[in-house]
Order: sequence, then C-alpha cells, then structure tokens
Amino acid sequence: MPLEEDCLFCKIIRGEIPADIVYDDEFVLAFNDINPQAPHHVLIIPKEHIATLDDLGPQHDGYLAAAFAAARGIAAHRGLNADGYRLVFNCGERAGQSVFHVHMHLLGGRAFRWPPG
Ligand code: 5GP
Ligand code: ZN
Repeated sequence: MPLEEDCLFCKIIRGEIPADIVYDDEFVLAFNDINPQAPHHVLIIPKEHIATLDDLGPQHDGYLAAAFAAARGIAAHRGLNADGYRLVFNCGERAGQSVFHVHMHLLGGRAFRWPPG
C-alpha cells in the first residue's frame, strides 16, 4: 500500500509518530484526535495515502465501507449512539482540511449545532 514519506498520518500508520489507536483493521486505522473538539473525537483514516475525499475512486470503496463501519462500531462501543454523534469529512482548505491524508472525524459526547461554523 503506498504511503507518503512526509505525510503526518502516513507516519502514524508506519508507527513513526505515536497515536492513541482505538481501532485497526485491513483498511483503516482509527485514533483519538490530538486536539479534541468534543469529549469523543476520533479520526478514521485509510491505510494508504489518499489526499482528500475528492481523490477517492471506486477502488477505495473498501476504505469508505470500513470507515463507516468502524465509526458505528466505535460509537456503539462508547455508548454514543443513544444521544447521537457526528461524522465529518473536511475536503479542501476552505472546508477546514489541514492534514492532506483523507480522514473521517467521529465526534460525540456533546450536542452539536447546525449549521456548522
Ligand atoms: P482536518 O482539519 O484536516 O479536518 O483534521 C485534522 C485533524 O488532525 C485535526 O482535528 C487535528 O487536531 C488532528 N491532528 C493533527 N496532528 C495530529 C497528530 O499528530 N496526532 C493526532 N492524533 N491528531 C492530529
Ligand atoms: Zn498520508
């Protein structure tokens, strides 16, 4: 699986940077966000380097399916599904993407407003 030398999340996948890993399977790695925006804030990333949601093709369906399944599993395991939780992909700088290795945010443990900021 292709990983990129200088990508922060590829470094986490390679174990070069420590992360608080909460789930790991063939397609995805999930770990707690270093700067949580809610009591529960988990990032779910593909195990290969893909920069943004826009770069996903049909060959990445395994990642998307695994990411949603992981999110639901983590939410259930943490008891978040009773009160609700939020899944977010920021795609591109203007939407707030700061790490260009695609990731799903799982946020829970508090109420969320709509529309988002
Ligand atoms: P984005 O802004 O790209 O949608 O989300 C990137 C997320 O990665 C942010 O929520 C940020 O806090 C998180 N993050 C950045 N650097 C690290 C790191 O080294 N470790 C972990 N666990 N999360 C990080
Ligand atoms: Zn990467």
